[in-house]
Amino acid sequence: MRSVEEYKEGLRTMRSNIYFNGNLIDRLDEVQEPAIRVMGVTFDAVSDPEISHLATATSHLSGETINRFCHVHQSAEDLHRKQDMTRALCRRVGGCIQRCMGADAVNAVNAISYEADKANQGNTEYHANFRNWLDYFQKNDLVGCCAQTDMKGERLKRPAQQSDPDMYLRVVENRSDGIVVNGCKVHISEASIADEVLVVPTRALGKDEGEYAVSFAVPADQEGLIQVMTPHNARQREHYSRGMQGGYTDSYLIFDNVFVPWERVFLCGENDHGSLLALLFALFHRHSYSGCKPALGDVYTGLAALAADYNGIEKTSHVRQVLAEIIKVTELGYAAGYTASDLSGPRLQIPGMGQVPFGPGAYIPDSIYSNVGRCLTGEAVFHEQEMLCDIAGGFPATFPFEADLANPRIKAHLEKYLQRNPDVPVEEQIKFWLYFIDMTCTGAASVFNYGNYHGGGSPVMEQIAITSQYDIAERKNLVKALAGILNEEG
Ligand SMILES: Cc1cc2nc3c(=O)[nH]c(=O)nc-3n(C[C@H](O)[C@H](O)[C@H](O)COP(=O)(O)OP(=O)(O)OC[C@H]3O[C@@H](n4cnc5c(N)ncnc54)[C@H](O)[C@@H]3O)c2cc1C
Repeated sequence: MRSVEEYKEGLRTMRSNIYFNGNLIDRLDEVQEPAIRVMGVTFDAVSDPEISHLATATSHLSGETINRFCHVHQSAEDLHRKQDMTRALCRRVGGCIQRCMGADAVNAVNAISYEADKANQGNTEYHANFRNWLDYFQKNDLVGCCAQTDMKGERLKRPAQQSDPDMYLRVVENRSDGIVVNGCKVHISEASIADEVLVVPTRALGKDEGEYAVSFAVPADQEGLIQVMTPHNARQREHYSRGMQGGYTDSYLIFDNVFVPWERVFLCGENDHGSLLALLFALFHRHSYSGCKPALGDVYTGLAALAADYNGIEKTSHVRQVLAEIIKVTELGYAAGYTASDLSGPRLQIPGMGQVPFGPGAYIPDSIYSNVGRCLTGEAVFHEQEMLCDIAGGFPATFPFEADLANPRIKAHLEKYLQRNPDVPVEEQIKFWLYFIDMTCTGAASVFNYGNYHGGGSPVMEQIAITSQYDIAERKNLVKALAGILNEEG
């Protein structure tokens, strides 16, 4: 497994293909440092005695110990550990740990490449391609990101109906040595600090949409691939240091006639499997949210409780209500993920077909529990922010900037008036409110809310998954029986 320094050295040697604010930047540019620091935590974790049992796994390919973010889940216990690792690491960085998108895509492609080969009766070698690539990915302890979301153009039109056919990434040329793809994937988290990009389709695809049913992996600096990156960094601090100085990035990934050799292609043309791949990545990713959203809930609980303490309102009934509400969502989200792991297996819930054996034996979390958990926590995002705003009052919105707080000419005045709870040193109160602002009242905090709401699919997508997969007919029959409409035989 790599050290943080080795990971950074890998980034240093990559081709510059990232645009930010009008410039072509290197991967180790200072604007990327906060995000790299967060990613670094996933490398440090494997040798940390407190967490290494969660952060490492045994590769089913090589039998070697690998970083869990490169692993294909082989058991329900693996999924439990993935969830607990995610919660623990997200608590350390106070937000997204960034490396799960690649891991979730790895697990989805593993199953789909196998099933597509099976359906093609040995005429394709997608799974062998994938296993070879995965072996390289695991042995080199690489960071993957997942490029699923397409630009999508006119929302109510299918890929094949778009006036510009590139609105969904597609194969534009089939060659003897590989394929050429065109299109643009959007909002791709951490692509600018990843080694590899895993591409999967966004949505269900019709029979005439085989060109969009494509999955592959390319290095994040592949020839023809252009990244346009947006960073979301916490405000710079000089005087009041943080426990963690983190940040995030998202990229538009423009594939301008990118060549992908066949050995890196994991699906090409099978529209049914393309549709299932879209569903399966979303499923694995929604399960990952049962680790990260509870961690965020832990942070929000601490923020609300301390804001109440510092405001001297900790004994009021509305504070109790807020704390109970945040804790409820946090632990129900965790419980749903835990249950989804417990009910996992080498099978998949397919709308209209029920639970069917699926993939080469790796474990897939239960879909209903993954979706209800993600939906619950996703819908709560802005309400949680509203509750934090309620407890804080207007303080965070107009809090002085750090340089004013440290300016000797006004520092004493500010400290006098910022003192709310006489039992807490004012320096501590200032640090707390500056962090509260980081999490609720900055540009980066707003972006974070959007990610927490839409990432893995907007709540409406989970509602569709829940209602199309839940056995509602069985519940109708239950009520009919209870109401005396049906007898016991139905
Ligand atoms: C910070 C952040 C990070 C992200 N990271 C990643 C990542 O790493 N990888 C990745 O692949 N994706 C990522 N995403 C993308 C995320 O999965 C999408 O934002 C989400 O699926 C919603 O898609 P969209 O943004 O295109 O919204 P849109 O589809 O544009 O939704 C806008 C509105 O239109 C509605 N709508 C859209 N289509 C239809 C339709 N056919 N019929 C009726 N109504 C419709 C929606 O319900 C919604 O109300 C990220 C998003 C964010 C915000």
